[in-house]
Amino acid sequence: MKTKKLYESDGMLARFPARVLSCRPYENGYAAVLDRTAFFPEGGGQTADTGTIGSARVLDVQIRDGEILHFTDAPVSGEVTCALDFDVRFRKMQNHLGEHLLCGAFHRLYGLDNIGFHLGADYMTFDIDGILTPEQIAKAEKEANRAVFEDVPVRCWYPEKDELSELDYRAKLEKLEAAEGIRIVEAAGFDRCACCAPHLDRTGRIGCIKITDAAKYKGGMRLHALCGSDALADYGKKQAMLETLSHLFSAEEDRIVQAAEARLAELSAARQTAGAYRRALVGARLAALSDTEGSICLFEPLLDTNGLRELAAGGAHKTAGIFAAFSGTEEAGYDFVLASERIPLGRVKEAAAAALGAKCGGSDNMLFGHADADKAAIRRFFEGPEIFNL
Ligand SMILES: [Zn+2]
Repeated sequence: MKTKKLYESDGMLARFPARVLSCRPYENGYAAVLDRTAFFPEGGGQTADTGTIGSARVLDVQIRDGEILHFTDAPVSGEVTCALDFDVRFRKMQNHLGEHLLCGAFHRLYGLDNIGFHLGADYMTFDIDGILTPEQIAKAEKEANRAVFEDVPVRCWYPEKDELSELDYRAKLEKLEAAEGIRIVEAAGFDRCACCAPHLDRTGRIGCIKITDAAKYKGGMRLHALCGSDALADYGKKQAMLETLSHLFSAEEDRIVQAAEARLAELSAARQTAGAYRRALVGARLAALSDTEGSICLFEPLLDTNGLRELAAGGAHKTAGIFAAFSGTEEAGYDFVLASERIPLGRVKEAAAAALGAKCGGSDNMLFGHADADKAAIRRFFEGPEIFNL
């Protein structure tokens, strides 16, 4: 006996009585077949329903060899009361029907087709076979929401062959279960499309439809959208984010963008000033140095890696050994840049790793790295005569 698919005729059914036809051990749990079910098995881009059969948890539902298998954590038998995790199912239906209305609008307004659909645990994406401007997308979003506000009935049915041949419908993508015919889902006056999933009984239950992202994808576009309770949750998240930014920038919410732009301009000016000071500091340090037959080892806590590089590059010709420039602290260790015109620095790399725990990379003329060693050990290593014998 085949399981009657209650989810096809009534998407709003949350609890139902059923009889267990069979139940057998399966992997870590059990696989049960019922005489009737409102649990939607995974399909058409939508994940399976979860819930309970009696006191057993339904963890997954799949169609295998034409049978609807309910995977449970405990054995079930006889007459049972079943209940869906309806909050989760309702959320999926809000998103799924919202996707129908959006794709219906893209089709009606721009002649585009839906060529991909995925409904995840906390997101939904769908693909369309054309590229649109943000204004065109906004127009389709508005049109889909008009269908929500008009709160029209949703009808799901299997038309007879003759009726089907006369029907104009969308989403041949979901031309599934051909053996039982094509199931049509219609939002009166707005969209008609082939689909196997359970649906809300009215469009008003969607609440609202919001496209959150649209990007070019495989010659068309991939859109992210949130509907109903997901859209509300997302609004809450974004509002909290705005409040945080508002505090951080000490700006009213509608002035945050200007406040952020002003801070970025300040940051850019401060960077230019810092660059000028850095060049002045490097110039002064280099001017104070005399040529030497030994190596030069300088600690400049105010310089970043760029400054150390400028210092080492500018001072390398003053030494017959190595010009070593450091910045850091005893606690955090020291970043450094080494430069030399006489000693190939590749040779220094291993010795510095062994003596100072230094990790570095670069060329024979210039090395960049970090050493977790104290200042005295660093000076001993670079200023001693051994550096010339590596
Ligand atoms: Zn669908």
